[in-house]
Amino acid sequence: MKLKFIIIAITMLSLFNGITTFAADSDIRFTKAYGKRYVYLRDVAKYYNMQCYVWKEKTVLWNRWHRLTFYHNKRNAEFDGVKVSLMFAPFNRGIQAYVSDKDFLLMLDPILRHYALNRHRMKLIMIDPGHGGKDIGGYGNRVKEKDLTLQLAKKLQTRLRRRGYMVLMTRSSNRTLSLKQRTELSKRLTPDIFISIHANIAGNKSVKGVETFCLAPTGTTSSNGGKASSKPEAGNKFDKNSAALAYEIQKGVLKRSQAADRGVKHSRFYVLKNASAPAILIEVGFLSNKTEARRLKTNAYQEKIIRGIENGIRNYHRKLIRK
Ligand SMILES: [Zn+2]
Repeated sequence: MKLKFIIIAITMLSLFNGITTFAADSDIRFTKAYGKRYVYLRDVAKYYNMQCYVWKEKTVLWNRWHRLTFYHNKRNAEFDGVKVSLMFAPFNRGIQAYVSDKDFLLMLDPILRHYALNRHRMKLIMIDPGHGGKDIGGYGNRVKEKDLTLQLAKKLQTRLRRRGYMVLMTRSSNRTLSLKQRTELSKRLTPDIFISIHANIAGNKSVKGVETFCLAPTGTTSSNGGKASSKPEAGNKFDKNSAALAYEIQKGVLKRSQAADRGVKHSRFYVLKNASAPAILIEVGFLSNKTEARRLKTNAYQEKIIRGIENGIRNYHRKLIRK
């Protein structure tokens, strides 16, 4: 099925009321499979001025600036060296390969093209240190998640203020705060972005690394499985910007910390579902992993994580103001 660009453009406009700056001569065809719409990766490549090569197990798109790897029938992809969990697995048929239109419109395009983002004010940042008070969160190798998240949040607050941002915290002491209270604070104080900080725990003690979540778009499952929800959540209004923010933060943190990359992922965490601004949740590492927990306790490593988050936020901000 071949479709003129104009039809896709109309779809984009109606779905995302954003600025569309498709080149008039770019045709992005789509096909239907598994009850969904998939776009041709070769057309996507052309649209971004990239080369495209379809192998048996993967498709690679590249140019001077970017390299995107899609693994056929797998949800994990790589955008410029950062793992990204797709909503649906791409697949190939002969020399053609396809990615779902949701992954194209809500992940790939906002990450690659700043025009795809909704412009917004970027002054007030809300930081949400996970857990607190009676709620310890995860505990491993003598580190309590609630303490670590607060330490990191305070350091991030100082850094961001130095950069001229106004920063609010959902909590700035060791106190109990429900998820509902957190989102209500955000609703009332209307930050421009919302950053929730957490640390992970796993049964398997060798598991380590950083992962950053944004809200799973409507009709898709979380990266860790579960059911697809067809009910739009408040946070789904910001899908494109949240994806770009999550990507920039994950990339920033990986660059600084050299931690293992667990990827940009989707979830339906409460604070993301009920977000009133572009929102992400970062899991900075595993307390259940001895080496990582030990590192996370040190000031030097905490600074790396914080600088990484800060760089991610600033890169996201730069995209918003780029002409
Ligand atoms: Zn947590």
